[in-house]
Amino acid sequence: MPTLVMKFGGTSVADLARIKNAAMKVQREVDNGYDVIVIVSAMSGKTNELVGWVNETSPLYDAREYDAIVSSGENVTAGLMALTLDEMGVPARSWQGWQVPIQTTSAHGAARFLDIPRKNIDAKFAEGMKVAVVAGFQGVSPEGRITTLGRGGSDTTAVAFAAAFDAERCDIYTDVDGVYTTDPRITSKARKLDKIAYEEMLELASLGAKVLQTRSVELAMRFKVRLRVLSSFEDVTDTSGTLVCGEEEIMESNVVAGVAYSRDEAKMTLISVADRPGIAAAIFGPLSEAGVNVDMIVQNISEEGRTDMTFSCPVDQVLRAEKAMQEAQAKGSINFHDLVADKDAAKISVVGIGMRSHAGVAAKMFAALAKEGINIKVITTSEIKISVLIDRKYMELAVQALHDAFELEKAA
Ligand code: ADP
Ligand code: ASP
Ligand code: MG
Repeated sequence: MPTLVMKFGGTSVADLARIKNAAMKVQREVDNGYDVIVIVSAMSGKTNELVGWVNETSPLYDAREYDAIVSSGENVTAGLMALTLDEMGVPARSWQGWQVPIQTTSAHGAARFLDIPRKNIDAKFAEGMKVAVVAGFQGVSPEGRITTLGRGGSDTTAVAFAAAFDAERCDIYTDVDGVYTTDPRITSKARKLDKIAYEEMLELASLGAKVLQTRSVELAMRFKVRLRVLSSFEDVTDTSGTLVCGEEEIMESNVVAGVAYSRDEAKMTLISVADRPGIAAAIFGPLSEAGVNVDMIVQNISEEGRTDMTFSCPVDQVLRAEKAMQEAQAKGSINFHDLVADKDAAKISVVGIGMRSHAGVAAKMFAALAKEGINIKVITTSEIKISVLIDRKYMELAVQALHDAFELEKAA
């Protein structure tokens, strides 16, 4: 039997009626002749609630217990989906990560797949099971502890299963009908894309477009998984949604494919640190060990042997970053006058493979922001993207201004 992977996100399984709606989509594919692997998220809002409970109990929590707690949301939906399918006469069984077993690294909260053995699930398909419902977002470490893959990780579970089971396609069912030029919640001018190149989707995802988890796109690109993003709430046709595929499959595209934003950024500045060889390592080593995901970095010009060092990180990691820097200061490995945290930043990025061959994108971006009176705090660029850090209160305005400036509402 050909295999299909279908993933349903939180809003698609938010209550029993929606689980039934999703199960009917699964039944249709079983009727079409597929063995189906369904990957489910926790019910909408559940993971946030669990994360909230963890933070309230222990702000600098032990990540092993974080994973034990936040992985539980998916277990509930997996069981409910299997029961719903069974009720409809579709033979289904649920699988938690450890039952497959989905083997991951022991990087709790950000684990990576090591192996997804097919044996157990294949044996059940051979016995007549039509649907394996797998709890997304989780796995088991070599030490035998439950792990999670990072927020949005069920997308990655889906793509990894599609690769492991040679699935014909991996369909990601969500609350939007595809990938848009920007988040359709920010501007009604956002346009749905029929196709988007893996590399563009990878950048958009890593820069904040949470429609797909970054790692899922990375895996899809590596294993050439045909990945489709489509709505749970519409009837499916052959041309539904957006196909994420190789750039050779796309005939025409705009220079800028899309605009991404990341809302909860912080800008941290170490004021007056001694400027000497090894200072960057002395700062960013401890930050990395403390699990702080440093993104943009700027070292200011130095005066009399001292300099300011600015970096950005997710706002919920400020506490960890401050602690790591204070500890390094106490040990004497760095010496700074002050540490200033601006917790009201956001990052806006424009992405497009067309930038490789078109000059002037950065100038146009900066001009569009200047026209709106938006100050740029930090800039970074790569071959196919430009990112800026700005005040969070201008985030929506910046996305809209850039969408207009690059005329993304129009197809190439
Ligand atoms: P799920 O719970 O199904 O995994 P998510 O909330 O993780 O869904 O992702 C879907 C959301 O991603 C959409 O509701 C939309 O607001 C947001 N989003 C951000 N950027 C984009 C984009 N470029 N195209 C489509 N959706 C986007
Ligand atoms: N439930 C997890 C989250 O909200 C994983 C997922 O939905 O993909 O991040
Ligand atoms: Mg998601």
